[in-house]
Amino acid sequence: MKWNLFGWQGLSFPVPEDWNLSKITGDARSGSVRLDDGEIVRVEAEWRDTEGRAPGVTALVDRYVEGLTKKAAKAGRRLEVRRRVRLLPEGSLPDKEWEIFSWRAEGRVYNLAWRCRTCGRIGLVRVFARGSEDIGRYAGQVFGGLEDHPVDGRQLWGVYGMVVRVSEGFRLEEHNLRTGHIRLVFREGNRELAVERVGLADIMLRGRTLKEWFLGFFDKVLRDFEAPSFEGTSFLGHPGVRVFAPPKKLWKRPLFPTLNRVRRSRFLRGCVWHCADMNTIWAITTTSRDQEDLFVEEVVQNVSCHQGQAHQPGGDAQVPSDS
Ligand SMILES: [Zn+2]
Ligand SMILES: [Zn+2]
Repeated sequence: MKWNLFGWQGLSFPVPEDWNLSKITGDARSGSVRLDDGEIVRVEAEWRDTEGRAPGVTALVDRYVEGLTKKAAKAGRRLEVRRRVRLLPEGSLPDKEWEIFSWRAEGRVYNLAWRCRTCGRIGLVRVFARGSEDIGRYAGQVFGGLEDHPVDGRQLWGVYGMVVRVSEGFRLEEHNLRTGHIRLVFREGNRELAVERVGLADIMLRGRTLKEWFLGFFDKVLRDFEAPSFEGTSFLGHPGVRVFAPPKKLWKRPLFPTLNRVRRSRFLRGCVWHCADMNTIWAITTTSRDQEDLFVEEVVQNVSCHQGQAHQPGGDAQVPSDS
């Protein structure tokens, strides 16, 4: 089975590739996500920043289990909760205080509750079995690979197999999550970064060069800039183009301000490439007031465009894992 990395608002863990994001709430301070396999819920995770004032994990789990047992009793069911389940080897998640517990609902549910000594987050991840399926091994792999804060100054964002590590200063501003077109927009100060992955590349590029595709797909964005220049190159071992566009000259701007007013006097840089391995097109674009700002190149080096288990930073590791 192929595994992908899932990552959202600083929380990340590995998941089987067909478990995908189906619900998001909240933000970096507190929030939750749900992943399903197309039929049933597979993972639910929630997190909260505590600014250091959280009870210990045992107390958290006590309280949680108590609530759960009461609920079950009201529904006339008896809930058998197993505490301190040994699913992970001793010494796992070394900077976190944690406990794994489980119970049986439709199928078995494994839970990891943790509190992080590094960042102060507390959280709970639940992994659900389908019917009588033995989910322990899966749950162990999900929990064992969990991280809840930036590593080496970068936060892992991973949805639908798209994985990018973005500098921690960048905040998520916008997201569009369709499997055919994923778009994450970040901002740090007055720098804006958009990471986009488009599917069905073979169809998108039928009878068209990458440059032509970019001009069409980014038509709206490009209206705020002078005509872009392109340079053929390669990114992460794939054919690609570098894009640069200066801000539109003042006299060419519309008389009435557009919604994209922010983009004025900004320089656009982009790296676009075709990952044939995954039949996708990647476009990383940045806008900045500084003409020489090349941080787009750095973002590219932190993309994993065609690896299954992509735990290593950098985008050029060759680890196709189909086992
Ligand atoms: Zn942490
Ligand atoms: Zn690739």
